[in-house]
Amino acid sequence: MPSKRDYYDVLGVSRDASIDDIKKAYRKLALKHHPDKNKEHPKEAEEKFKDLSEAYEVLADPGKRTRYDQYGHSGVESTFRGGGFDWSDFTHFEDINDIFGGSSGFGFGGSIFEQFFGGRPRSGPREGRSLRYDIEVSLLDAASGVEKELRIPHSVQCKSCEGQGAKAKNIKTCSTCGGAGQVRRGQTRGNTSFVSIAACPTCRGSGKQIVKPCATCAGAGATNTTSTIKVAIPRGTEEGMRLRVRGAGEASMEGGAPGDLFIVIHIAPHELFERDGKNIYVDAPISFSEAALGAKIQVPTLDGTALVTIPPGTQTDTIFRLKGKGMPDIRGYGNGDEFVRTQVITPAKLNSEQKQLLRRFSESVGQYGKTGTRKKWFSDSRKKP
Ligand SMILES: [Zn+2]
Ligand SMILES: [Zn+2]
Repeated sequence: MPSKRDYYDVLGVSRDASIDDIKKAYRKLALKHHPDKNKEHPKEAEEKFKDLSEAYEVLADPGKRTRYDQYGHSGVESTFRGGGFDWSDFTHFEDINDIFGGSSGFGFGGSIFEQFFGGRPRSGPREGRSLRYDIEVSLLDAASGVEKELRIPHSVQCKSCEGQGAKAKNIKTCSTCGGAGQVRRGQTRGNTSFVSIAACPTCRGSGKQIVKPCATCAGAGATNTTSTIKVAIPRGTEEGMRLRVRGAGEASMEGGAPGDLFIVIHIAPHELFERDGKNIYVDAPISFSEAALGAKIQVPTLDGTALVTIPPGTQTDTIFRLKGKGMPDIRGYGNGDEFVRTQVITPAKLNSEQKQLLRRFSESVGQYGKTGTRKKWFSDSRKKP
């Protein structure tokens, strides 16, 4: 692969350019290099235009720009990976959850897609149905990012007939409508004549008639297959987020573009970590003596362990914060924190020597040590109800 040009160079702006400067530069260059305006060198113009759009998409998005500034092209690479992953398609799924009814493998048609996603221009044949596929990843995989290989059963356009349902020689122009796909019906009511136009009943509007259906697909225009699809689950993925893989859905039954595949990501609960957005919580059992005397304890983190200093006299439910040890932000805005919650464990099984030691300890701290914290229950200052 040829090395990519620096996005700032592509747009001709400085590295500290404001968002407005970036927008202005893009608009100016995009007009200049638009393929429609460069009929002499269309290929070149298209390349330039693509580079411009890519540079703009990254630099106009604060999260992507930060990542690009830090890591260069590799920081934003997944945006443009061949499979058609699109970071802008990352949204929470709840809004449209009711359409899918939460069931796995539920497909939905182009029209619903348009209704809820603002739509695509409808012209030409209807595209194939989109598919939904649910996967579950571990919390640790969601934290580090992971690549998954999925086997997706779906239909593809039949190669033998190119989706037409029959070989070209076996498709004839409809004799009823003469290929127009419509029929006109004249009607007279009283002194007035009406002309109504309806879809041709013979060809259902296609203008064509199949003489002999394709042997491979039995006239359906599509065959079933299972595709292996690699998806990159990004760092910091949250429950319910979805990835769109363009063109990996069902084949169009009208010879149009295939639908998309929506991968809905679920995060499996972790036995130690509890997640709340970017932050994670972990319970740290500490012994009674560690709580009293203080200790340094090792706690698990998403990527290993960390040392936490427990000061002398720590109580149950004391929270220690490990800054930056939480989940990464999906848009690259930095990590959350890890919160360590202590849980003082009272020793339950004591041998006689230990019991003796504790009795001596109890005597040593005296009455106040035993009941000091309960003292106010019975003090005179307590107001009687
Ligand atoms: Zn076929
Ligand atoms: Zn017809």
